[in-house]
Amino acid sequence: MHEAWTNHEVWGFECLHCEGSWDEEFQVRHSGDGHGNEAVVYWRQGQPCTTPWMDRSCPGCGSQNVKALSARDGMHDEVPIARSGSDVAMVFHLRHLHAW
Ligand SMILES: [Zn+2]
Repeated sequence: MHEAWTNHEVWGFECLHCEGSWDEEFQVRHSGDGHGNEAVVYWRQGQPCTTPWMDRSCPGCGSQNVKALSARDGMHDEVPIARSGSDVAMVFHLRHLHAW
């Protein structure tokens, strides 16, 4: 059985060069191959992209000396604006419960 699901993640980033910070929203598409393997693809603004913690550059100064802060580490505690209803908020709630 082929399974696929998508959830949203909001990642915070911090530039170690100019000390700027910003958030980016990603769609995370998970797909299982039915054999217990899971593939995860990150999408950003409708385009597949590298993982959030790779290859980011600062929108302010262009430095690639950027640190990714995941949405779950407490600095970005608010639930992002839900575009598709309460299930998005529920996903975030569950992720907080799992504490990862
Ligand atoms: Zn910067």
